[in-house]
Amino acid sequence: MLVRSERERSAVDTPARTREEAPSQPAGRCRLDSRAVSPVDKVADGVYRLGTDWVGWYLYEVDAAVTVVDCGFSGYFEQLPAALAELGRSMGDVVAVVLTHYHADHVGSAERIRTETGATVFAPADDAAGIRSGKVPIPAGMAPNLWRPRMMRYMAHAVRNGGAKMTPVGKVQTFSDGELLEVPGGLRAVHTPGHTGGHCSLLAEAAGVLFAGDALAMVSFLSGETGPQLLPFHEDAGQARESLSRLEGITAGVMAVGHGAPFEGTPGEAVARALARA
Ligand SMILES: [Zn+2]
Repeated sequence: MLVRSERERSAVDTPARTREEAPSQPAGRCRLDSRAVSPVDKVADGVYRLGTDWVGWYLYEVDAAVTVVDCGFSGYFEQLPAALAELGRSMGDVVAVVLTHYHADHVGSAERIRTETGATVFAPADDAAGIRSGKVPIPAGMAPNLWRPRMMRYMAHAVRNGGAKMTPVGKVQTFSDGELLEVPGGLRAVHTPGHTGGHCSLLAEAAGVLFAGDALAMVSFLSGETGPQLLPFHEDAGQARESLSRLEGITAGVMAVGHGAPFEGTPGEAVARALARA
């Protein structure tokens, strides 16, 4: 199985892959285009990261059944069958798609995956209307920052990858705070509002992985600085900050986020570091 851990991967030279833009990360960590990535990045046993350096999405595999956690941009879709093939799986093994919130860089190809595989799409109750309609507000603080060079590069990447238009999801099953989602291995929902009203983080207890979505990020959209941090764009920034207290006590060894590399440490450590720099 051609799967390497994040640590092993970072030890090798820059992969032979054409890049859209100059690297802003150390050699071996740069991935700015959305073509299929081989080998797939292993985050923990049964958990794999797809996506780019801009946006991550995840596979959570238990007993040969695969749950997709967030979907990146719709243009990332081709990464899915390629990654599944590398893991010895196929689209038919995808049983669920779980979304942390309603933004286009997370909902991505959820509808396509649903219709092609029959997977159940799970959505946080308070964000479900936006996921069903495809109409969601732009987070406060985003527009005034669009002039920044790094934001311009991100927006160009978003447009190239279908982020300007969200495909509504035809059928979703909603979930709320504290609920244990019925996906293989289970995922515990932790309501972490602020970035959006419905935003939920998801705990894969057996794998020791917290999927934090956009409750925390590992890279700055504005400066490119890495490490645990709050995003600069939230519907309610105060609430996003308060929601960090909901992550602090969670037992997990890795925190996988929507933006940036996974954090290898506990959510409590990540929160402390994010608050220290805020
Ligand atoms: Zn978001």
